[in-house]
Amino acid sequence: MLKGFYNSSELDFTIPENKEAMLKAFEQVDKEKGNDYPLIIGGERIMTEEKIFSFSPSTKEQLGAVSSCSQELADRAIRTAHNAFLSWRTTPVEERICCVRRLVELMKQNRFLLDAWSIEESGKNWGEADGELCEALDFFNSYIMHMRELDKGLELMDTDEAVKCIYIPIGVGVAVPPWNFPLSLLAGMVVSAVITGNTIVCKPSSDTPIVAYKFIELCEKAGFPAGVINFIPGSGSVIGDYIVKHPLTRFVNFTGSKEVGLRISRMASEVSEGQKWIKRVVAEMGGKNAIIVDSSADLKRAAAGIANSAFSFQGQKCSACSRAVVLSDVYDAFVEEIAACAKDLQAHQGSGREDLPMGPVINKSAFDRISHYIEIARNEGTIVCGGGFDDSKGFYIEPTVVRDVAKNAVIAKEEIFGPVLAVIRAESFDEALEIANNTEYGLTGSVYTEDRAHIQKAKEEFHVGNLYFNRKSTGAVVLQHPFGGFNMSGTDAKTGTRDYLTNFLNLKSICEDL
Ligand code: GLU
Repeated sequence: MLKGFYNSSELDFTIPENKEAMLKAFEQVDKEKGNDYPLIIGGERIMTEEKIFSFSPSTKEQLGAVSSCSQELADRAIRTAHNAFLSWRTTPVEERICCVRRLVELMKQNRFLLDAWSIEESGKNWGEADGELCEALDFFNSYIMHMRELDKGLELMDTDEAVKCIYIPIGVGVAVPPWNFPLSLLAGMVVSAVITGNTIVCKPSSDTPIVAYKFIELCEKAGFPAGVINFIPGSGSVIGDYIVKHPLTRFVNFTGSKEVGLRISRMASEVSEGQKWIKRVVAEMGGKNAIIVDSSADLKRAAAGIANSAFSFQGQKCSACSRAVVLSDVYDAFVEEIAACAKDLQAHQGSGREDLPMGPVINKSAFDRISHYIEIARNEGTIVCGGGFDDSKGFYIEPTVVRDVAKNAVIAKEEIFGPVLAVIRAESFDEALEIANNTEYGLTGSVYTEDRAHIQKAKEEFHVGNLYFNRKSTGAVVLQHPFGGFNMSGTDAKTGTRDYLTNFLNLKSICEDL
Protein backbone atom coordinates (compact mmCIF):
# COMPACT_ATOMS: atom_id res chain seq x y z
CA MET A 1 0.00 0.00 0.00
CA LEU A 2 1.18 3.51 -0.73
CA LYS A 3 2.07 5.67 2.22
CA GLY A 4 2.16 9.46 2.29
CA PHE A 5 -0.24 9.97 -0.62
CA TYR A 6 -3.71 11.36 -0.08
CA ASN A 7 -6.37 12.02 -2.69
CA SER A 8 -7.66 15.61 -2.75
CA SER A 9 -11.22 16.15 -1.52
CA GLU A 10 -13.88 17.79 -3.63
CA LEU A 11 -15.45 21.00 -2.36
CA ASP A 12 -18.82 20.73 -0.68
CA PHE A 13 -20.98 23.32 -2.40
CA THR A 14 -23.74 23.04 0.22
CA ILE A 15 -21.36 25.02 2.46
CA PRO A 16 -22.41 28.68 1.96
CA GLU A 17 -18.82 30.00 1.71
CA ASN A 18 -18.01 27.61 -1.12
CA LYS A 19 -21.19 28.45 -2.96
CA GLU A 20 -20.55 32.18 -2.60
CA ALA A 21 -16.96 31.82 -3.80
CA MET A 22 -18.24 29.96 -6.84
CA LEU A 23 -20.81 32.64 -7.63
CA LYS A 24 -18.08 35.26 -7.30
CA ALA A 25 -15.93 33.28 -9.72
CA PHE A 26 -18.79 33.36 -12.24
CA GLU A 27 -18.87 37.16 -11.85
CA GLN A 28 -15.17 37.16 -12.72
CA VAL A 29 -15.85 34.92 -15.73
CA ASP A 30 -18.51 37.40 -16.87
CA LYS A 31 -15.97 40.23 -16.65
CA GLU A 32 -13.46 38.26 -18.67
CA LYS A 33 -15.95 37.25 -21.37
CA GLY A 34 -15.02 38.39 -24.86
CA ASN A 35 -11.28 38.47 -24.11
CA ASP A 36 -8.75 37.55 -26.75
CA TYR A 37 -6.09 34.97 -25.79
CA PRO A 38 -2.68 34.52 -27.42
CA LEU A 39 -0.46 31.55 -28.19
CA ILE A 40 2.48 31.15 -25.80
CA ILE A 41 5.75 30.08 -27.42
CA GLY A 42 8.98 30.35 -25.45
CA GLY A 43 7.22 32.67 -22.99
CA GLU A 44 6.26 35.04 -25.80
CA ARG A 45 2.58 35.89 -26.27
CA ILE A 46 1.63 35.81 -29.93
CA MET A 47 -1.69 37.02 -31.35
CA THR A 48 -2.72 35.72 -34.77
CA GLU A 49 -5.32 36.94 -37.26
CA GLU A 50 -6.98 33.54 -37.39
CA LYS A 51 -9.14 32.86 -34.30
CA ILE A 52 -10.84 29.97 -32.56
CA PHE A 53 -14.05 31.04 -30.82
CA SER A 54 -15.12 29.42 -27.59
CA PHE A 55 -18.88 29.06 -26.95
CA SER A 56 -20.94 28.11 -23.94
CA PRO A 57 -22.75 24.82 -24.72
CA SER A 58 -25.39 25.86 -22.16
CA THR A 59 -26.39 29.11 -23.89
CA LYS A 60 -24.41 29.25 -27.19
CA GLU A 61 -22.96 32.56 -25.98
CA GLN A 62 -19.49 33.41 -27.29
CA LEU A 63 -17.03 33.33 -24.39
CA GLY A 64 -13.86 34.57 -26.01
CA ALA A 65 -11.43 34.14 -28.87
CA VAL A 66 -8.13 32.31 -28.89
CA SER A 67 -5.40 32.79 -31.46
CA SER A 68 -5.12 29.92 -33.89
CA CYS A 69 -1.67 28.53 -34.65
CA SER A 70 -0.30 28.20 -38.20
CA GLN A 71 2.20 25.56 -39.35
CA GLU A 72 5.01 28.16 -39.25
CA LEU A 73 4.25 29.00 -35.63
CA ALA A 74 3.84 25.32 -34.74
CA ASP A 75 7.33 24.73 -36.17
CA ARG A 76 8.61 27.58 -34.04
CA ALA A 77 6.94 26.15 -30.94
CA ILE A 78 8.51 22.70 -31.47
CA ARG A 79 11.97 24.19 -32.15
CA THR A 80 11.65 26.41 -29.08
CA ALA A 81 10.65 23.39 -26.97
CA HIS A 82 13.62 21.51 -28.42
CA ASN A 83 16.04 24.28 -27.36
CA ALA A 84 14.47 24.48 -23.91
CA PHE A 85 14.89 20.70 -23.62
CA LEU A 86 18.68 21.03 -23.89
CA SER A 87 18.81 22.70 -20.47
CA TRP A 88 15.60 21.42 -18.83
CA ARG A 89 16.70 17.79 -19.27
CA THR A 90 19.64 18.34 -16.91
CA THR A 91 17.72 20.48 -14.41
CA PRO A 92 17.78 18.49 -11.13
CA VAL A 93 14.62 16.53 -10.44
CA GLU A 94 14.05 18.37 -7.14
CA GLU A 95 14.03 21.69 -9.01
CA ARG A 96 11.46 20.38 -11.47
CA ILE A 97 9.42 19.07 -8.54
CA CYS A 98 9.56 22.54 -6.92
CA CYS A 99 7.82 24.00 -9.98
CA VAL A 100 5.11 21.32 -9.77
CA ARG A 101 4.62 21.97 -6.04
CA ARG A 102 4.18 25.69 -6.69
CA LEU A 103 1.69 24.77 -9.41
CA VAL A 104 -0.28 22.72 -6.87
CA GLU A 105 -0.51 25.77 -4.60
CA LEU A 106 -1.48 28.09 -7.46
CA MET A 107 -4.20 25.69 -8.60
CA LYS A 108 -5.62 25.65 -5.07
CA GLN A 109 -5.52 29.46 -4.91
CA ASN A 110 -7.29 29.75 -8.27
CA ARG A 111 -9.58 26.80 -7.72
CA PHE A 112 -12.94 28.56 -8.07
CA LEU A 113 -11.97 30.50 -11.18
CA LEU A 114 -10.60 27.36 -12.88
CA ASP A 115 -13.77 25.47 -11.93
CA ALA A 116 -15.95 28.32 -13.22
CA TRP A 117 -14.21 28.47 -16.59
CA SER A 118 -14.39 24.71 -16.94
CA ILE A 119 -18.14 24.79 -16.17
CA GLU A 120 -18.68 27.64 -18.61
CA GLU A 121 -16.81 26.07 -21.51
CA SER A 122 -17.68 22.38 -21.05
CA GLY A 123 -21.20 22.56 -19.55
CA LYS A 124 -20.33 20.27 -16.64
CA ASN A 125 -21.80 20.87 -13.20
CA TRP A 126 -19.90 22.17 -10.19
CA GLY A 127 -19.07 18.84 -8.61
CA GLU A 128 -17.83 17.38 -11.88
CA ALA A 129 -15.65 20.44 -12.46
CA ASP A 130 -14.16 20.43 -8.98
CA GLY A 131 -13.66 16.67 -9.15
CA GLU A 132 -11.52 17.31 -12.18
CA LEU A 133 -9.43 19.88 -10.37
CA CYS A 134 -8.88 17.33 -7.59
CA GLU A 135 -7.85 14.74 -10.17
CA ALA A 136 -5.27 17.19 -11.57
CA LEU A 137 -3.82 17.77 -8.09
CA ASP A 138 -3.72 14.02 -7.50
CA PHE A 139 -1.88 13.51 -10.78
CA PHE A 140 0.71 16.12 -9.76
CA ASN A 141 1.23 14.68 -6.29
CA SER A 142 1.48 11.12 -7.58
CA TYR A 143 3.95 12.12 -10.30
CA ILE A 144 6.11 13.93 -7.72
CA MET A 145 6.24 10.75 -5.65
CA HIS A 146 6.95 8.48 -8.64
CA MET A 147 9.59 10.79 -10.11
CA ARG A 148 11.54 10.73 -6.87
CA GLU A 149 11.55 6.94 -7.00
CA LEU A 150 12.49 6.82 -10.68
CA ASP A 151 15.32 9.24 -10.07
CA LYS A 152 17.04 6.55 -7.99
CA GLY A 153 17.39 4.44 -11.17
CA LEU A 154 17.20 0.65 -11.31
CA GLU A 155 18.62 -1.56 -8.61
CA LEU A 156 21.42 -3.66 -10.11
CA MET A 157 23.72 -6.54 -9.13
CA ASP A 158 26.75 -5.73 -7.06
CA THR A 159 29.85 -6.55 -9.17
CA ASP A 160 33.45 -5.40 -9.45
CA GLU A 161 32.39 -2.95 -12.14
CA ALA A 162 30.71 0.39 -11.34
CA VAL A 163 27.25 -0.05 -12.84
CA LYS A 164 24.12 2.03 -12.82
CA CYS A 165 20.96 2.33 -14.83
CA ILE A 166 19.28 5.72 -14.88
CA TYR A 167 16.11 7.17 -16.32
CA ILE A 168 16.65 10.05 -18.72
CA PRO A 169 14.13 12.29 -20.50
CA ILE A 170 13.55 11.80 -24.23
CA GLY A 171 12.68 15.14 -25.86
CA VAL A 172 9.80 17.26 -27.08
CA GLY A 173 6.29 15.96 -26.54
CA VAL A 174 3.08 17.00 -28.22
CA ALA A 175 0.00 16.97 -25.95
CA VAL A 176 -3.44 16.75 -27.53
CA PRO A 177 -5.97 16.62 -24.68
CA PRO A 178 -9.78 16.36 -24.99
CA TRP A 179 -12.56 18.80 -24.14
CA ASN A 180 -14.37 16.47 -21.76
CA PHE A 181 -11.70 16.78 -19.06
CA PRO A 182 -10.28 20.11 -20.19
CA LEU A 183 -8.32 20.65 -17.01
CA SER A 184 -7.28 17.34 -15.47
CA LEU A 185 -6.28 15.47 -18.62
CA LEU A 186 -4.48 18.46 -20.09
CA ALA A 187 -2.72 19.13 -16.79
CA GLY A 188 -1.79 15.47 -16.41
CA MET A 189 -0.30 15.36 -19.91
CA VAL A 190 1.71 18.54 -19.37
CA VAL A 191 3.03 17.72 -15.91
CA SER A 192 3.90 14.07 -16.66
CA ALA A 193 6.01 15.33 -19.56
CA VAL A 194 7.86 18.12 -17.77
CA ILE A 195 8.42 16.44 -14.41
CA THR A 196 10.29 13.71 -16.31
CA GLY A 197 12.54 16.39 -17.86
CA ASN A 198 10.89 16.66 -21.27
CA THR A 199 9.40 19.79 -22.79
CA ILE A 200 5.94 20.07 -24.26
CA VAL A 201 3.87 21.71 -26.96
CA CYS A 202 0.21 21.64 -25.97
CA LYS A 203 -2.65 21.92 -28.45
CA PRO A 204 -5.84 22.21 -26.40
CA SER A 205 -9.27 21.24 -27.68
CA SER A 206 -10.91 24.01 -29.71
CA ASP A 207 -14.03 23.60 -27.52
CA THR A 208 -12.25 24.43 -24.26
CA PRO A 209 -9.23 26.63 -24.99
CA ILE A 210 -9.82 29.27 -22.28
CA VAL A 211 -9.64 27.00 -19.25
CA ALA A 212 -6.53 25.53 -20.91
CA TYR A 213 -4.99 29.00 -21.23
CA LYS A 214 -5.76 29.73 -17.56
CA PHE A 215 -3.87 26.59 -16.58
CA ILE A 216 -0.85 27.36 -18.78
CA GLU A 217 -0.67 30.85 -17.23
CA LEU A 218 -0.41 29.22 -13.81
CA CYS A 219 2.41 26.98 -15.09
CA GLU A 220 4.32 30.13 -16.05
CA LYS A 221 3.71 31.62 -12.61
CA ALA A 222 4.90 28.39 -11.02
CA GLY A 223 8.32 29.06 -12.53
CA PHE A 224 8.74 26.60 -15.39
CA PRO A 225 11.34 28.25 -17.60
CA ALA A 226 10.19 29.79 -20.90
CA GLY A 227 9.94 27.21 -23.68
CA VAL A 228 9.40 24.23 -21.38
CA ILE A 229 5.61 24.49 -21.76
CA ASN A 230 4.24 25.98 -25.00
CA PHE A 231 0.60 26.61 -25.84
CA ILE A 232 -0.65 26.41 -29.42
CA PRO A 233 -4.40 26.18 -29.91
CA GLY A 234 -5.11 25.42 -33.56
CA SER A 235 -7.31 23.62 -35.98
CA GLY A 236 -6.59 19.89 -36.23
CA SER A 237 -6.80 20.05 -40.01
CA VAL A 238 -4.14 22.80 -40.16
CA ILE A 239 -1.56 21.74 -37.56
CA GLY A 240 -2.68 18.29 -36.33
CA ASP A 241 -0.69 16.08 -38.70
CA TYR A 242 2.09 18.66 -38.87
CA ILE A 243 2.97 18.58 -35.17
CA VAL A 244 2.78 14.78 -35.05
CA LYS A 245 5.02 14.37 -38.12
CA HIS A 246 7.54 17.05 -37.14
CA PRO A 247 11.03 15.50 -37.02
CA LEU A 248 11.77 17.03 -33.60
CA THR A 249 8.62 15.59 -32.02
CA ARG A 250 9.71 12.71 -29.78
CA PHE A 251 6.35 11.58 -28.38
CA VAL A 252 2.65 12.31 -28.65
CA ASN A 253 0.15 12.08 -25.79
CA PHE A 254 -3.43 12.03 -27.02
CA THR A 255 -6.92 11.54 -25.61
CA GLY A 256 -9.91 11.67 -27.95
CA SER A 257 -11.69 9.67 -30.61
CA LYS A 258 -10.56 6.35 -32.05
CA GLU A 259 -10.36 7.84 -35.55
CA VAL A 260 -7.97 10.63 -34.53
CA GLY A 261 -5.98 8.31 -32.25
CA LEU A 262 -5.40 5.81 -35.06
CA ARG A 263 -4.47 8.61 -37.43
CA ILE A 264 -1.89 9.92 -34.93
CA SER A 265 -0.52 6.42 -34.49
CA ARG A 266 -0.15 6.04 -38.28
CA MET A 267 1.41 9.49 -38.78
CA ALA A 268 3.81 9.01 -35.88
CA SER A 269 5.06 5.74 -37.32
CA GLU A 270 6.25 7.43 -40.54
CA VAL A 271 9.84 8.66 -40.31
CA SER A 272 10.27 12.30 -41.37
CA GLU A 273 13.49 13.61 -42.87
CA GLY A 274 16.02 14.34 -40.16
CA GLN A 275 14.15 12.28 -37.54
CA LYS A 276 16.41 10.14 -35.37
CA TRP A 277 13.99 8.09 -33.26
CA ILE A 278 10.90 5.96 -33.24
CA LYS A 279 8.18 8.19 -31.85
CA ARG A 280 6.17 7.02 -28.90
CA VAL A 281 2.41 7.41 -28.83
CA VAL A 282 0.27 7.30 -25.71
CA ALA A 283 -3.36 7.25 -26.78
CA GLU A 284 -6.57 7.07 -24.79
CA MET A 285 -9.46 6.60 -27.18
CA GLY A 286 -13.09 5.58 -27.07
CA GLY A 287 -15.23 3.03 -25.32
CA LYS A 288 -18.48 1.15 -25.67
CA ASN A 289 -18.61 0.22 -22.04
CA ALA A 290 -20.99 -2.34 -20.61
CA ILE A 291 -22.34 -2.96 -17.14
CA ILE A 292 -23.71 -6.44 -16.41
CA VAL A 293 -26.60 -6.93 -13.98
CA ASP A 294 -27.13 -10.54 -12.91
CA SER A 295 -30.08 -12.17 -11.12
CA SER A 296 -28.48 -11.79 -7.68
CA ALA A 297 -27.87 -8.04 -7.99
CA ASP A 298 -29.47 -5.34 -5.86
CA LEU A 299 -31.48 -3.77 -8.69
CA LYS A 300 -31.94 -0.35 -7.09
CA ARG A 301 -28.23 -0.05 -6.47
CA ALA A 302 -27.48 -1.27 -10.00
CA ALA A 303 -29.91 1.20 -11.59
CA ALA A 304 -28.50 4.12 -9.59
CA GLY A 305 -24.92 3.19 -10.54
CA ILE A 306 -25.77 2.64 -14.19
CA ALA A 307 -27.73 5.90 -14.44
CA ASN A 308 -24.75 7.72 -12.98
CA SER A 309 -22.35 5.96 -15.36
CA ALA A 310 -24.54 6.59 -18.42
CA PHE A 311 -25.81 10.10 -17.78
CA SER A 312 -23.36 12.05 -15.58
CA PHE A 313 -21.74 14.79 -17.68
CA GLN A 314 -24.29 13.75 -20.32
CA GLY A 315 -22.53 10.46 -21.02
CA GLN A 316 -19.52 12.32 -22.39
CA LYS A 317 -16.82 10.34 -20.62
CA CYS A 318 -14.74 7.63 -22.27
CA SER A 319 -15.60 5.59 -19.19
CA ALA A 320 -19.38 6.11 -19.52
CA CYS A 321 -21.71 3.11 -19.66
CA SER A 322 -23.67 2.88 -22.89
CA ARG A 323 -24.80 -0.76 -22.61
CA ALA A 324 -26.59 -2.38 -19.69
CA VAL A 325 -26.51 -6.16 -20.16
CA VAL A 326 -29.19 -7.62 -17.95
CA LEU A 327 -30.13 -11.22 -17.14
CA SER A 328 -33.55 -12.18 -18.46
CA ASP A 329 -35.25 -12.95 -15.12
CA VAL A 330 -34.56 -9.45 -13.74
CA TYR A 331 -34.77 -7.59 -17.06
CA ASP A 332 -38.23 -6.02 -16.72
CA ALA A 333 -37.74 -5.08 -13.09
CA PHE A 334 -34.39 -3.47 -13.94
CA VAL A 335 -35.85 -1.49 -16.85
CA GLU A 336 -38.47 -0.05 -14.49
CA GLU A 337 -35.78 1.03 -12.02
CA ILE A 338 -33.46 2.60 -14.60
CA ALA A 339 -36.34 4.42 -16.31
CA ALA A 340 -37.28 5.95 -12.94
CA CYS A 341 -33.68 7.13 -12.39
CA ALA A 342 -33.52 8.63 -15.89
CA LYS A 343 -36.86 10.39 -15.42
CA ASP A 344 -35.63 11.97 -12.23
CA LEU A 345 -32.50 13.24 -13.99
CA GLN A 346 -34.60 14.55 -16.89
CA ALA A 347 -36.42 16.77 -14.42
CA HIS A 348 -33.08 18.18 -13.25
CA GLN A 349 -31.45 19.32 -16.44
CA GLY A 350 -30.13 22.82 -17.11
CA SER A 351 -27.03 24.94 -17.67
CA GLY A 352 -23.75 24.10 -15.94
CA ARG A 353 -24.01 27.27 -13.91
CA GLU A 354 -27.27 26.14 -12.34
CA ASP A 355 -25.39 23.14 -10.95
CA LEU A 356 -27.99 20.56 -11.88
CA PRO A 357 -27.26 16.86 -12.30
CA MET A 358 -27.44 17.11 -16.11
CA GLY A 359 -26.32 19.83 -18.50
CA PRO A 360 -25.87 20.29 -22.26
CA VAL A 361 -23.68 18.29 -24.66
CA ILE A 362 -20.56 20.02 -25.88
CA ASN A 363 -21.49 21.50 -29.26
CA LYS A 364 -23.71 21.43 -32.33
CA SER A 365 -21.94 18.55 -34.03
CA ALA A 366 -22.20 16.39 -30.87
CA PHE A 367 -25.87 17.35 -30.61
CA ASP A 368 -26.48 16.31 -34.24
CA ARG A 369 -24.58 13.04 -33.87
CA ILE A 370 -26.35 12.01 -30.65
CA SER A 371 -29.82 12.99 -31.88
CA HIS A 372 -29.15 10.97 -35.03
CA TYR A 373 -28.39 7.91 -32.86
CA ILE A 374 -31.64 8.52 -30.97
CA GLU A 375 -33.48 8.35 -34.31
CA ILE A 376 -31.70 5.05 -35.03
CA ALA A 377 -32.66 3.86 -31.53
CA ARG A 378 -36.37 4.31 -32.32
CA ASN A 379 -36.04 1.48 -34.87
CA GLU A 380 -33.68 -0.67 -32.84
CA GLY A 381 -35.66 -0.89 -29.60
CA THR A 382 -38.26 0.85 -27.46
CA ILE A 383 -37.45 4.17 -25.81
CA VAL A 384 -38.75 3.94 -22.25
CA CYS A 385 -37.50 7.30 -21.08
CA GLY A 386 -36.17 10.43 -22.79
CA GLY A 387 -35.67 10.48 -26.55
CA GLY A 388 -36.14 14.25 -26.72
CA PHE A 389 -33.58 16.87 -27.77
CA ASP A 390 -33.67 20.62 -28.15
CA ASP A 391 -30.97 22.99 -29.36
CA SER A 392 -33.02 26.19 -29.30
CA LYS A 393 -31.12 27.63 -26.27
CA GLY A 394 -28.21 25.28 -25.71
CA PHE A 395 -27.39 21.71 -26.75
CA TYR A 396 -29.73 19.71 -24.55
CA ILE A 397 -30.47 16.00 -24.94
CA GLU A 398 -32.67 14.07 -22.54
CA PRO A 399 -31.25 11.06 -20.72
CA THR A 400 -32.49 8.26 -22.94
CA VAL A 401 -33.08 4.59 -22.07
CA VAL A 402 -33.72 2.14 -24.90
CA ARG A 403 -34.93 -1.40 -24.11
CA ASP A 404 -34.95 -4.59 -26.17
CA VAL A 405 -31.84 -3.67 -28.10
CA ALA A 406 -30.21 -6.57 -29.98
CA LYS A 407 -26.56 -7.22 -29.14
CA ASN A 408 -25.45 -6.38 -32.70
CA ALA A 409 -27.65 -3.31 -33.17
CA VAL A 410 -25.93 -0.08 -34.26
CA ILE A 411 -26.57 1.57 -30.89
CA ALA A 412 -25.09 -1.49 -29.17
CA LYS A 413 -21.88 -1.33 -31.22
CA GLU A 414 -20.99 2.28 -32.04
CA GLU A 415 -19.72 4.84 -29.57
CA ILE A 416 -22.40 7.53 -29.17
CA PHE A 417 -20.64 9.68 -26.53
CA GLY A 418 -23.92 11.05 -25.24
CA PRO A 419 -26.68 10.23 -22.72
CA VAL A 420 -28.10 7.17 -24.49
CA LEU A 421 -28.25 3.77 -22.78
CA ALA A 422 -29.05 0.52 -24.64
CA VAL A 423 -30.48 -2.20 -22.41
CA ILE A 424 -29.64 -5.64 -23.80
CA ARG A 425 -31.06 -8.98 -22.60
CA ALA A 426 -28.86 -12.00 -21.80
CA GLU A 427 -30.06 -15.53 -21.04
CA SER A 428 -27.07 -16.53 -18.90
CA PHE A 429 -24.08 -14.95 -17.19
CA ASP A 430 -21.80 -16.50 -19.83
CA GLU A 431 -23.85 -14.86 -22.55
CA ALA A 432 -23.77 -11.55 -20.67
CA LEU A 433 -19.95 -11.68 -20.63
CA GLU A 434 -19.89 -12.58 -24.31
CA ILE A 435 -22.09 -9.57 -25.12
CA ALA A 436 -20.03 -7.25 -22.90
CA ASN A 437 -16.86 -8.32 -24.74
CA ASN A 438 -18.54 -8.08 -28.16
CA THR A 439 -16.89 -4.76 -29.04
CA GLU A 440 -13.62 -3.55 -30.50
CA TYR A 441 -13.10 -1.40 -27.39
CA GLY A 442 -12.01 -2.39 -23.88
CA LEU A 443 -11.96 0.57 -21.54
CA THR A 444 -14.25 0.14 -18.53
CA GLY A 445 -16.80 -2.41 -17.38
CA SER A 446 -18.72 -3.22 -14.25
CA VAL A 447 -20.76 -6.09 -12.86
CA TYR A 448 -23.58 -5.81 -10.34
CA THR A 449 -23.77 -9.17 -8.58
CA GLU A 450 -23.73 -10.88 -5.18
CA ASP A 451 -22.47 -14.13 -6.71
CA ARG A 452 -18.78 -14.87 -5.94
CA ALA A 453 -18.48 -17.34 -8.83
CA HIS A 454 -19.66 -14.64 -11.25
CA ILE A 455 -17.17 -12.18 -9.77
CA GLN A 456 -14.36 -14.69 -10.30
CA LYS A 457 -15.46 -15.43 -13.86
CA ALA A 458 -15.71 -11.73 -14.76
CA LYS A 459 -12.24 -11.07 -13.31
CA GLU A 460 -10.89 -13.69 -15.70
CA GLU A 461 -12.97 -12.99 -18.79
CA PHE A 462 -14.30 -9.41 -18.86
CA HIS A 463 -11.57 -7.86 -21.03
CA VAL A 464 -11.34 -4.20 -20.03
CA GLY A 465 -8.63 -1.93 -18.64
CA ASN A 466 -10.80 -0.87 -15.70
CA LEU A 467 -13.10 -3.50 -14.20
CA TYR A 468 -15.42 -2.64 -11.33
CA PHE A 469 -17.91 -4.59 -9.21
CA ASN A 470 -21.08 -3.17 -7.68
CA ARG A 471 -19.88 0.31 -8.62
CA LYS A 472 -20.30 2.78 -11.44
CA SER A 473 -17.88 2.57 -14.40
CA THR A 474 -16.88 6.25 -14.28
CA GLY A 475 -14.92 8.34 -11.79
CA ALA A 476 -11.59 6.51 -11.58
CA VAL A 477 -9.62 7.89 -8.64
CA VAL A 478 -5.86 8.48 -9.01
CA LEU A 479 -3.78 5.69 -7.44
CA GLN A 480 -6.93 3.78 -6.50
CA HIS A 481 -8.08 2.92 -10.01
CA PRO A 482 -5.23 3.50 -12.50
CA PHE A 483 -7.05 4.40 -15.69
CA GLY A 484 -6.48 3.21 -19.26
CA GLY A 485 -8.04 0.83 -21.76
CA PHE A 486 -7.36 -2.24 -23.90
CA ASN A 487 -7.86 -2.91 -27.61
CA MET A 488 -9.22 0.07 -29.60
CA SER A 489 -9.63 2.05 -26.37
CA GLY A 490 -5.95 2.91 -26.37
CA THR A 491 -2.40 2.01 -25.47
CA ASP A 492 -3.23 1.08 -21.85
CA ALA A 493 -0.93 3.70 -20.34
CA LYS A 494 -2.42 3.85 -16.87
CA THR A 495 -2.56 7.49 -15.77
CA GLY A 496 -1.26 8.41 -12.33
CA THR A 497 1.15 5.45 -12.14
CA ARG A 498 4.92 5.16 -12.16
CA ASP A 499 4.66 3.07 -15.34
CA TYR A 500 2.91 6.01 -17.00
CA LEU A 501 5.97 8.21 -16.49
CA THR A 502 8.27 5.62 -18.06
CA ASN A 503 6.51 6.29 -21.38
CA PHE A 504 8.46 9.56 -21.41
CA LEU A 505 11.84 8.24 -20.26
CA ASN A 506 14.71 6.18 -21.61
CA LEU A 507 16.74 3.83 -19.45
CA LYS A 508 20.47 4.36 -19.80
CA SER A 509 22.69 1.55 -18.60
CA ILE A 510 26.19 2.72 -17.61
CA CYS A 511 29.13 0.52 -16.72
CA GLU A 512 32.71 1.42 -15.78
CA ASP A 513 35.34 -1.28 -15.48
CA LEU A 514 37.28 -0.44 -12.35
N1 GLU B 1 -10.98 8.95 -15.95
C1 GLU B 1 -12.35 9.29 -16.24
C2 GLU B 1 -13.27 8.37 -15.49
O1 GLU B 1 -12.85 7.40 -14.90
C3 GLU B 1 -12.68 9.27 -17.71
C4 GLU B 1 -11.68 9.98 -18.57
C5 GLU B 1 -12.11 10.18 -20.01
O2 GLU B 1 -13.30 10.31 -20.32
O3 GLU B 1 -11.16 10.27 -20.82
O4 GLU B 1 -14.46 8.60 -15.51
